[in-house]
Amino acid sequence: MYLLKRLIASISGIRVSLQINFLLVLLFCSVLISGYIAINQLRIFSIDAVTINNFGIIRGSIQRISKQELAGLSAERLITRVDKLIVEEKSAKFLNTPHISKIYKKKFNQEIKQLENSWNELKRLIYQKGKNQKLKDTLYYQSEICWDHANKVVYSAQKISEKKYKNYKKILIKIILFVGLFILGIIVLVYKIVHKRLEVDAITDPLTKLYNRSYFDKTLLKQRRLSSRYLSTFSLLLIDVDFFKNVNDDFGHQKGDAILIMLAQLLLKNSREHDYIFRYGGEEFALILPHTEQANAEIMAEKYRKLVSENDFGLNRELTVSIGVSQFAKDESIESLIRRVDSALYQAKSQGRNKVVSNVHQSYNT
Ligand code: GH3
Ligand code: MG
Ligand code: MG
Repeated sequence: MYLLKRLIASISGIRVSLQINFLLVLLFCSVLISGYIAINQLRIFSIDAVTINNFGIIRGSIQRISKQELAGLSAERLITRVDKLIVEEKSAKFLNTPHISKIYKKKFNQEIKQLENSWNELKRLIYQKGKNQKLKDTLYYQSEICWDHANKVVYSAQKISEKKYKNYKKILIKIILFVGLFILGIIVLVYKIVHKRLEVDAITDPLTKLYNRSYFDKTLLKQRRLSSRYLSTFSLLLIDVDFFKNVNDDFGHQKGDAILIMLAQLLLKNSREHDYIFRYGGEEFALILPHTEQANAEIMAEKYRKLVSENDFGLNRELTVSIGVSQFAKDESIESLIRRVDSALYQAKSQGRNKVVSNVHQSYNT
């Protein structure tokens, strides 16, 4: 969970489409790697088949060699073959796997050693056999012992291979579970990113990137609720650009858009941490100042008015704003608050613009 949060934090700085592409690549790689691991593990079973078969050949050859030798025929070719197979299988990769415990490996190696010893003894008897019936009996007896040892090795090899397969299945289930969880994690992550993006888009003005009008309505309602619950207050500022129509007419709509973006940045840069800034309408902005009374709200409004009038927007002329200011009065409706701040803004316009005008609720005047 911690890792997931770290991952979200580290990729949340980049573009959403890039974030999703990154996650899809991650998903693809994980499926590829786990698929490779699973297939690579499967290869060990082809080695097993060869080994079991080789020990089977050794077991069968021992019987044939004894028969031929006892019948007076030379089994030299078969003896060489068994020698070669024993050397090969002693150094084979059959036990070279983490799927088998050390005890199993030790037991198997001991069995091979026993087979090797009895085989060497059998060979010794074959090379010194004569017409002596007693020697023939000993050879026959030794070949039975040797066959027995070979049989044990075949049996153990089969058991070991079965055990490997069972362990492999366990590992495969773990891989499938891990990949499944990983895919689920990626889906959750993609869902969170898209969901967050949609949430942000729903409350953001596309031009200025400030909060939009619909979030303004929601925030006002929330502030009103908080005010009555905690007996706190807040103020509302309505900012309207003066003669903005002229800016569009003289410099074009695109320049007008750029000015609106610059204005938004100016307000954002100079606002307090807990204040909310909205694009209220075309060239109008609204600010909600939590825990702020009329007097302080007026100071803030004056600061913004001055900032705008002193800012260089590259127009070769002054750009100004008019601002209406109202503190929320206990229990008043949202409509009433907006009406009052609107009326203050209207007065600022009619008093010559580039002005801050307050509308104080009658309850504060008495
Ligand atoms: P005043 O407020 O001082 O009375 O004059 P004004 O010219 O600003 O007032 P008015 O409300 O008549 O005009 C607002 C102008 O704002 C009209 C419109 O073309 C412009 N406007 C509104 N939204 C946008 C926008 O998104 N981009 C641009 N470039 N202009 C916009
Ligand atoms: Mg306007
Ligand atoms: Mg205007």
